[in-house]
Amino acid sequence: MTSSPLVSRANMDILDELQLIAAQNLERLEVNKYYEVIRELGKGTYGKVDLVIHKIRGTKMALKFLKKKTTKLKSFLREYSISLYLSPCPFIINMFGIAFETDEYYVFAQEYAVAGDLFDIIPPQVGLPETVAKRCVHQVAIALDYLHCKKLVHRDIKPENILIFDRECRKVKLSDFGMTRRAGSPVKRVSGTIPYTAPELCDVSRHEGFCVDYSTDVWAFGVLLFCMLTGNFPWEKALPSDSFYQEFIRWQRRRTNTVPSQWRRFTEQALRMFRRLLSVEQDRRCSVKEVFGYFSHSWMLDAENDNNNGNMVAGGGGERVSGGGGGGGGGGGGVRGEVDGTISSSSSGEEDEEHLVERMKQQTLSPRSPVSPLSPMLPVAVKRGSGGSGAKGGMMEPGGGHHFVSVSTNSSVSSTNSYDRMPRENGSPGGRMLVPTPIEICV
Ligand code: ATP
Ligand code: MG
Repeated sequence: MTSSPLVSRANMDILDELQLIAAQNLERLEVNKYYEVIRELGKGTYGKVDLVIHKIRGTKMALKFLKKKTTKLKSFLREYSISLYLSPCPFIINMFGIAFETDEYYVFAQEYAVAGDLFDIIPPQVGLPETVAKRCVHQVAIALDYLHCKKLVHRDIKPENILIFDRECRKVKLSDFGMTRRAGSPVKRVSGTIPYTAPELCDVSRHEGFCVDYSTDVWAFGVLLFCMLTGNFPWEKALPSDSFYQEFIRWQRRRTNTVPSQWRRFTEQALRMFRRLLSVEQDRRCSVKEVFGYFSHSWMLDAENDNNNGNMVAGGGGERVSGGGGGGGGGGGGVRGEVDGTISSSSSGEEDEEHLVERMKQQTLSPRSPVSPLSPMLPVAVKRGSGGSGAKGGMMEPGGGHHFVSVSTNSSVSSTNSYDRMPRENGSPGGRMLVPTPIEICV
């Protein structure tokens, strides 16, 4: 047999094919000719995300600009194609089939999430009301399971990559597939960790590369749940040198029956769920869909629940390092109809893409189940001291930072680290910077 282009194309998998189509159709455009820029939605060393209106269609879109200086064409095509490939999932950000380049940037268009990202609405030190958190977790779990069923690993699960369409989390979507890779792909260890980074990736003594694995998403998802429900990070880094993590693994490995202080606000069932999601051994970590088995239980102890439910979801959002203003304030409006709109294509390759998208829509998700018990203890109340701006009734004070902090009740006053929004270093696992923030703990 000859290796004609047709034969080699038939052997390609769908992602390679999408990348090829995108590469073939990548036009050079002048942004201002086709789009009216309204405001910046996000910014980092990668580039930026702008809210725009398509001048001809009159549609609001989020344009993601990736700097050519720091982004290879291959990486851009991969992020774009993966986003397109996954977009049929109702809980993954939708795409318009638009990708182009300018002199300075590679650009693609996504639907605009009118309420910004999840980071903006988690009241620091308080967390979201359990019902709101569960609604969000449910949608993110479906999205992540969808991705895993497609043999992909997100590798950057964090609130900033979960886009929201309303502050009650009735509609949330997973986004940012810049770090996403096929499961099993070899990747190099990158320096720098964030609180969502799984312990096996934090281990600096491991110099060899890694094979991309679903379990790292499961870990990050477990940390995300903790952040959503408490407004704190469980630890700064999943390393033994981190006392909060140390405390957790002693309990997790059953070296002690004492539930670590910041975990005492959860019910027995929720702790069981966390133990499964945050299993230190990668191969013992459960799959994401195991969380579905825990939705019928309460996750927060009653006292904590009352406290939580009495709080509104934070408005306004926290400090924006980019000064972009984010999704706060519901600046969008009038996008209804557009966000649920069907995928449309840029110019040529339209039939190919729509056909591929249709095929993807046919694909379905799969199941699994949970195990293991534990006893809960008293909840703790945490108050932020003068070192940082507090979350008053869920609202940030003007000019105040938006932090999550790791807390412990081992001492009456503790100084620990909070986690601010910051652009990631190019090539790092997708992070923000850790900023020390003194906090006061009231037991
Ligand atoms: P990072 O590396 O910091 O995670 P990134 O460089 O890959 O980010 P994105 O995560 O895609 O970029 O976007 C950055 C921010 O821009 C998001 O956290 C979100 O606040 C905002 N944003 C991105 N896409 C949208 C969208 N479709 N609608 C509304 N806001 C968006
Ligand atoms: Mg992101």
